[in-house]
Amino acid sequence: MKAVATDQALQPAGRAPGGLVLVQDLVNTATLEKYAERAYPGDLLTDLAAANRWLDGALARWAAANGQTPPALHLSEADLAPLTRFREAVRALAAGHDEQTQTAVQLGAANLSLRIDGDGVVRHGTTASGWRGVAALATGEIMLAQHAGTWSRLKTCRYPVCGVAFYDESRNNSRVWHDVRTCGNRTNLAASRERRRAVAADGSG
Ligand SMILES: [Zn+2]
Repeated sequence: MKAVATDQALQPAGRAPGGLVLVQDLVNTATLEKYAERAYPGDLLTDLAAANRWLDGALARWAAANGQTPPALHLSEADLAPLTRFREAVRALAAGHDEQTQTAVQLGAANLSLRIDGDGVVRHGTTASGWRGVAALATGEIMLAQHAGTWSRLKTCRYPVCGVAFYDESRNNSRVWHDVRTCGNRTNLAASRERRRAVAADGSG
């Protein structure tokens, strides 16, 4: 299915809390290797109109979670490739909680803006435009989550061709599939098939 009809790609159970939802939304603009889930809407960052539709919705959700008005960010054609690279760097970062990630993303220091609002809450925004603005807001959320201890709960599905980002709300932070009924079952099925093959090979040899 190539048509991109919505402003959101797959949204698995387990939404990230607060502004961290922007990071989850960004990773989920595509799955790995165009994994063909029934509702898979394609890679939202390959089409400019779809990418901006997604961004408008994502910024509205992010701003609502943070109690601010959505920033006026728009993507141009030239933003799509670097934003896609940033997305995959974030996906790798979320996948590598247990090991050292080889991802290094350098963002200009001037991209992030901070202010103390009238309600006494410090909020972040961005002075950048295009993909750099999106990256600055998302990076700010990753930093906040790392400080709050919630970052280790934002994960990507372990099924190799999926990679969907989900928020693990389980008590012991032990989930590995974005959806155990799809990706968990597929992986377990493949493993049991492999075991049966091994047993059969043993029996014949
Ligand atoms: Zn999955």
